Amino acid sequence: MNLILMGLPGAGKGTQAEKINETYHIPHISTGDMFRLAIKEGTELGRKAKEYMDQGELVPDDVTIGIVKERLNKDDCKDGFLLDGFPRTIAQAKSLQSLLDEMNTSIDYCLHVDVPEENLVERLTGRRVCQTCGATYHVIYNPPEQEGICDNDGSKLIQREDDQADTVKNRLDVNMEQTKPLLDFYDNKGYLVTINGDQEIDHVFQDIQSAIEE
Ligand SMILES: [Zn+2]
Repeated sequence: MNLILMGLPGAGKGTQAEKINETYHIPHISTGDMFRLAIKEGTELGRKAKEYMDQGELVPDDVTIGIVKERLNKDDCKDGFLLDGFPRTIAQAKSLQSLLDEMNTSIDYCLHVDVPEENLVERLTGRRVCQTCGATYHVIYNPPEQEGICDNDGSKLIQREDDQADTVKNRLDVNMEQTKPLLDFYDNKGYLVTINGDQEIDHVFQDIQSAIEE
């Protein structure tokens, strides 16, 4: 089962990826993990990617797709995989398709965990972090026992600059612009499944299960 997982920041993609991994025993492959592994293993492509990253530059597509290829050829992917954060552009989506053609396989589903933007703003701006121990809370979904105070160590909780409303809205807009063409691309190919992400975590996962076990 070859899956791609899409969704805006805050849509709960990470949680669903974990559940898919536990239930179907296919590796959750995020772009960051993939790069870190290639760099750690010291492959030629890993070294190339590191050079770009060290200079604060974007890793070019040919290097990225090469790293994806190395990753998807590993043993743990023989029964499938769950890609998260890749592809990011239409060019990458097309390269992925050629790569999978070469491997005599294809994408089965592109799962889009969909949550309305205003709800994402609420989720993301409600995040609070302890500066001492790094624990994260949410004013609505996971509040500390005492408002504004860390349960672990009594430190004051802060809102990261990244989690403030204007920054959050801007980040979502940029993401949405990037994601839309990819959703259209997979929709046209018949792979897209839209999952209502605006419900309890377990219900979201049930919807994912019914979609992929159909
Ligand atoms: Zn703390």
